[in-house]
Amino acid sequence: MRLLKVLLHEMSWPEAKEYFAKNDIAILPVGSNEEHGPANPLGTDHLIAKKIAEETAKRTGVLCLQVIPFGVSSHHKQFWGTIFISAKTFKKYVKDTCSSLNYYGVRKIVVVNSHGGNLAVLTELSRELREEGIFVSIFQWWPAAPKLLPELFTTEERRHAGAEETSVNLALHPHLVNMNRAVNEEPREHPLQAEGITLPLGTVDQTSSGVFGKAKTASARKGKKLFEAIIDELVKHVNLLKEQKMEDLMPKPKV
Ligand SMILES: [Zn+2]
Repeated sequence: MRLLKVLLHEMSWPEAKEYFAKNDIAILPVGSNEEHGPANPLGTDHLIAKKIAEETAKRTGVLCLQVIPFGVSSHHKQFWGTIFISAKTFKKYVKDTCSSLNYYGVRKIVVVNSHGGNLAVLTELSRELREEGIFVSIFQWWPAAPKLLPELFTTEERRHAGAEETSVNLALHPHLVNMNRAVNEEPREHPLQAEGITLPLGTVDQTSSGVFGKAKTASARKGKKLFEAIIDELVKHVNLLKEQKMEDLMPKPKV
């Protein structure tokens, strides 16, 4: 019996042809390579995006691409090992990836984004691609599962490199997390910070460890629970998107 493959890089071209002949949807994980405090690996965002995307692909039968590992991360660059791609280059790279899929007939793409710094670019790109006949939805795991998340973690645990993110790492790749180095750090307020003001601050302006809030309370048990809830949400979304008619997803005419 032939195993159903869902990862693009594992398929041969005739297998890919067979998939694209029957399906117009694909999943694209994107992340970053940037500091996540002293306990977590630099790859946190792209490693999590990859796992979420691949698990969802297996459960839905939808094709999954390789993860795009580098993102828009210059605000973290003072911490060693951060790779920072400009918004322009990142947008072009993701666009070319989506256009390649479109060449083979894909018109619906679910971008699994694990790095908040990529969102503005991805949102702008998705609007442009819709005009070109490609409908892109963007999934971010940390606001998903809105009922479960506040039950598992406090607000101080839910920020960058905090217990929430660390717990997902502990569930998915525990050998890469060093909990002996986990820290809690209350971010410093900048004197110019106020409601209604946006400042061009970097992470280093606010924390010395790279952690915003509490990371020490992370646990693999919470991470597993959260991962399952995230996958349920994304599977639901992918299955819904699969059923949508393309004409209903395209830009509306002038009123
Ligand atoms: Zn992150």
